[in-house]
Amino acid sequence: MEPIIQVKNVNFEYSGHEGELTTALNNVSLDINKGEFVAIIGHNGSGKSTLAKHFNALLHPGSGDVIVKGMNTKDDDKVWDIRQVAGMVFQNPDNQMVATIVEEDVAFGPENLSIPSSEIRQRVDSALNVVGMSKFAKTAPHYLSGGQKQRVAIAGVIAMRPEIIILDEPTAMLDPSGRKEVMDTVHYLNKEEEITIIHITHYMIEAIKADRVIVMEEGKIVLDGPPREIFKQVTTLKEIGLDVPQIVELSFELNKEGFSIPGDPLSIEEMVNILCP
Ligand code: ADP
Ligand code: MG
Repeated sequence: MEPIIQVKNVNFEYSGHEGELTTALNNVSLDINKGEFVAIIGHNGSGKSTLAKHFNALLHPGSGDVIVKGMNTKDDDKVWDIRQVAGMVFQNPDNQMVATIVEEDVAFGPENLSIPSSEIRQRVDSALNVVGMSKFAKTAPHYLSGGQKQRVAIAGVIAMRPEIIILDEPTAMLDPSGRKEVMDTVHYLNKEEEITIIHITHYMIEAIKADRVIVMEEGKIVLDGPPREIFKQVTTLKEIGLDVPQIVELSFELNKEGFSIPGDPLSIEEMVNILCP
């Protein structure tokens, strides 16, 4: 089966005011398969957002190719089809609301696709239902919490019937309960609606729940694999200045003290099961 996203030898640089160039992606190649839940981590400036914007043709490679469901993002005729297949949710919930009530906001995307109004109504209702926001359909966005606003932003993307949702640090500005609301919603969409998820985060606790973790550093992919394989590499992660999940840190420290914690636990539950079998 062909991957839903193919990134082939992509280089990208930004040019500044003085004509100086910043390399943001340095020969990046990767495939993302349909239905995967991928977390992308890496510290500030490592190229995560730049890569994310290539997935839905917000940016075009300087060289190399990005193919989304068989469509090359360089093909101008395909831009709107690509953005319909691959929707994006950004960090700041306040910058994503365009309408004065929630349901109009969710309807905005499908309206631009010139979909019949009866179908728009049905898509909006079902999208709000999926993110658990139906009872706020007539509410003004400023009455909502950050987590609720992000769920509305996700509903706006879902109303476009995407196959992929890319979320660029969607939880960074939220409190812990807002973060949980958003993560529960995104996992639900992946499991129940089979939507491919690409989730950029600096919360390791979110990354451990992905199928696959990609680590970026200086515009390159430096590690790519299942969370347990990635977080085993504590020394490498620390060398590039990244945190590891708390439980990984705990077993790392215990192992240094001469204990040997088996099984590379990632979560508190797994650690408890290992210590108290
Ligand atoms: P991340 O999302 O991992 O923090 P970015 O993709 O935003 O990383 O940035 C990658 C590199 O590109 C950094 O060096 C950053 O300073 C630079 N960069 C990002 N956006 C711009 C821009 N609009 N103009 C110039 N340089 C940029
Ligand atoms: Mg970023």
